[in-house]
Amino acid sequence: MKKSAFLNKHKIAEGDIIELSVGNDLLIGTIVPSKSDSLIALKLNSGYNTEIDIKKIKSVKKKSKGKTVGKPKTAKVEEKKGLPSISILHTGGTIASRVNYKTGGVIAAFSADDLLTMFPELEEIANFESTLVSNIMSEDMNFAYYGKLVNAIEKEIKKGAKGIILGHGTDTLGYTAAALSFALENCPVPVMLVGAQRSSDRGSSDAAMNLICAAKFIAKTDFAGVAICMHHSTDDEICAVLPACKTRKMHTSRRDAFKAVNDSPIALVDYKSGKINFLKKNYAKKRGTFKAMPKFEEKVGLLKSHPSMKLIEIDFFRKNKYKGLVIEGTGLGHTTVTIKKFEDNIKAIKNLIKSGCVVCMTSQCLFGSVHPSIYTNIRKLSEIGVVYCKDLLPETAFVKLAWLLANYKKSEVAELMGQNLRGEINERISMDSFPPKEE
Ligand code: ASP
Repeated sequence: MKKSAFLNKHKIAEGDIIELSVGNDLLIGTIVPSKSDSLIALKLNSGYNTEIDIKKIKSVKKKSKGKTVGKPKTAKVEEKKGLPSISILHTGGTIASRVNYKTGGVIAAFSADDLLTMFPELEEIANFESTLVSNIMSEDMNFAYYGKLVNAIEKEIKKGAKGIILGHGTDTLGYTAAALSFALENCPVPVMLVGAQRSSDRGSSDAAMNLICAAKFIAKTDFAGVAICMHHSTDDEICAVLPACKTRKMHTSRRDAFKAVNDSPIALVDYKSGKINFLKKNYAKKRGTFKAMPKFEEKVGLLKSHPSMKLIEIDFFRKNKYKGLVIEGTGLGHTTVTIKKFEDNIKAIKNLIKSGCVVCMTSQCLFGSVHPSIYTNIRKLSEIGVVYCKDLLPETAFVKLAWLLANYKKSEVAELMGQNLRGEINERISMDSFPPKEE
């Protein structure tokens, strides 16, 4: 039977939630468009799509009629006296997405006001203002957007916000968190980056809990600076407030994908009770004079060292007049030294440095530090001026280098790469901190 006849026969349509009996399995999900006329495609509650051969379907039960996907009604939120004010800045990504039942894909479709209407619990915590800074998936982020974000955050701080929540796609959220912590010197309020691994219209979405925990953390603490607030485990119980410069997305789809590397969460927020447990006792508080420094140097690259590396991979940066390059080296900070018998990589890196490019070394091991002198090959790189960046994450080193090159004299940059400016370098990592323990 063809799909259209099957749908008509069972009085079901795309967007409806149905239960299918297939072999010994019961599958529950939303009907989404399928690739072929002989298949029914379902978006399961887990968020994944599956396609079933119509011939194998034993029975069909309609659970509920499809919702139309459109903008939800946005209610006017009344201001409540005595509550702090929190600004939500919205950049896009899954946190603000709904499933498009026409394509089965995820679309960025909400403004920040809509989020408040979707998560009314937020209103008990603070008064919110919201601004749509951009509506993009985070893979499309760039330095110009970072600048826009810094300016938008500065504006909210000047208006007197107690804190800021930044809704952001998860894929490059770690880069943005690090970039903002460099750009917001002596940031006087909490700036919490929040994302979601499942879109906001799914039962399994993590968006509400991440947002609510971030709001509770802002309302109840004197933390000042940039941090990330995401699920601590796969349960809906605790969110982790994570250090902006030392956190990575470590899983493609788990809700607890964000983990601190060579560091621990700053605090844990209990979703239901709102109790906050600081794991770092000397967390950042308001200090010094706030200064927004929104510029980033565009001509900075990030290169992963790998076996069979070609000279042109290094030469690209010299030929294109790059001002900075972070190498994600192997182990303690190696990159291929000899590529061909007479042309070696060291020469290519030396020429790159001679051309005026600052070349920095990090490790693709992520945990632990690079070391500038342990092996002969490493010493060769140090001798020609490669800057060894301790335990800086490659992504953090990349945005730090771009930020330093745009805001400091070139002669200061190498020195500053090795200095701990925003908690990005941990000088006291112990061997025992690996593998990371769950708190
Ligand atoms: N690719 C999406 C993004 O990073 C995923 C997400 O929104 O979390 O924007």
